[in-house]
Amino acid sequence: MEKIKELLNYIESKDLYPDLRIIQGAATPEVIIDGKKVLMFSSNNYLSLSVHPRVIQAAVEATEKYGTGSGGSRLLSGNLEVHRKLEKKLTDFKKGEDTLVWPTGYSANVGVVTAVMNILKFPGFGLLQRSGVILSDELNHASIIDGCKMSKQKVVVYKHLDVGDLERKLKRYKNRRKMVITDGVFSMDGDIAPLDKIVSLSKKYGAIIMVDEAHATGVLGKNGGGTLEHFGLKAIKDIDIVMGTLSKALGSMGGFVVGSNDLVKYLRVASRSYIFSTAMTPAASASAAVAIEVIQSEPIWKDMLGKNSDYARSGFQSIGYNTLSSQTQIIPILIGSDENAVKFSRMLFNRGVFGPCVRWPAVGKGQARIRFTLMATHTKQQIERLLEVCKEVGQKLKVI
Ligand code: PMP
Repeated sequence: MEKIKELLNYIESKDLYPDLRIIQGAATPEVIIDGKKVLMFSSNNYLSLSVHPRVIQAAVEATEKYGTGSGGSRLLSGNLEVHRKLEKKLTDFKKGEDTLVWPTGYSANVGVVTAVMNILKFPGFGLLQRSGVILSDELNHASIIDGCKMSKQKVVVYKHLDVGDLERKLKRYKNRRKMVITDGVFSMDGDIAPLDKIVSLSKKYGAIIMVDEAHATGVLGKNGGGTLEHFGLKAIKDIDIVMGTLSKALGSMGGFVVGSNDLVKYLRVASRSYIFSTAMTPAASASAAVAIEVIQSEPIWKDMLGKNSDYARSGFQSIGYNTLSSQTQIIPILIGSDENAVKFSRMLFNRGVFGPCVRWPAVGKGQARIRFTLMATHTKQQIERLLEVCKEVGQKLKVI
C-alpha cells in the first residue's frame, strides 16, 4: 500500500489525476455537470437513443416485467426471454446466423479472444492445438489488448491501419493458428479500418478475422450496419467474428458477437466471461433491442449525426487544429503534452463545454488530446459555440 500512496502523491503533485466530474442528467447536448450547465461534447450516446421515448419505454416495461436484475448467469438461472429476443434482433441486424451477448463490451472482447484462441479442453476429447498468433492493430481498444494478453498466445502488433505491415507479419507465421483483430472505427482517433483489404489478407494467409464494431454500429453503412456494411462485406462469409457493444449508438450497455451457429454455440460453453458473470439486466437488453428497431425505422438520427460530425470536423480544421485521421463522429483535437491537455479541458469546462482529455496510457505519449464526440441532437449553434471556445482556449495555450 505504501507504493500506491507514493504513486498517488506523485500523480497529484503533477496535477494529473483525472477530474472525474459528476454528471447530473442524461447524455443530452446540454447537461448539468458539477452543478454547472454545460454543452456535452463527449458522450458515446451518438444517436441520442438513450433518451428516445421508445427506448426508455422498453427499459421501463422490461424492468416492470422482469425486475431490475437478471438473477443469475445465462447458463444457470439468468437466461431470460429478453436476452434471446435481443440476440435474435442483433443476428438480423448484423446478418449473421446467431448472436451471443455479454454484460459489457469489455467482457465480450476478453471472452471471445481467449475462447477462440484456446479451444476448450473437454474431458475425453483428444485435442491437438497448434500454437497461435494474434495480429492486432496498434490502436485497438484496451479490451482487445487485454483479451490478447489473457489468451497467452503470441501477440504481434501491426502499425495502425497499415496493411503492408500486416502482410509482412502474417507471412512470418505460416504454421500457426492465426487471428487478425481490428477495431472498425477506432475509439480515440475516429478513423476507419481498411476492412476490405484486411479481409483479403486474412483469407490469403488463412487467418480468423475479428472486427470490433463498438463505434461503427448504428453509425456507418447505409442502414447503420457498421463497418461491414460500409465496405459491402458480409458476416461469416468475410468476417468470422463480428463483435460490438450496445453501450454507444444503441444507448444501452452490453457487448455482443455475431457469427456462425457453430461459433456462438461454442462460445456459450467456452467463454469464461459469459459463463461466470451475471447476465445483462432486463432493461439493458430490452432497450437495446428497441434501439435497433429505431435505427432501422428512423434513419434521420444517423443522417443528423453525419452532418454534425462533418460540420464540427471542418470547423476545427479551419481554425488550425489537427483532427488526426478522424472520419467519423469521434473527433480528436491533438494537444500534445498531458499537462496542456489537462489545462485545456479545464478551461473548456470553465467556459461551459465538457470535453475531457485523453492521455497516456489510453493514447501514446505526446499524443494527449481532447476527444470530442458528436451527437445527432447537437444544434448548429451548439457546435459553433464549441468551435468558438476551442479557438479562444487554443490561442491562450498557444496550441493553434
Ligand atoms: N471496444 C471498443 C472499441 C470500445 O471503445 C469499448 C469501450 N469504450 C469497448 C470495446 C468496451 O465496451 P464497453 O464499454 O461496453 O465495456
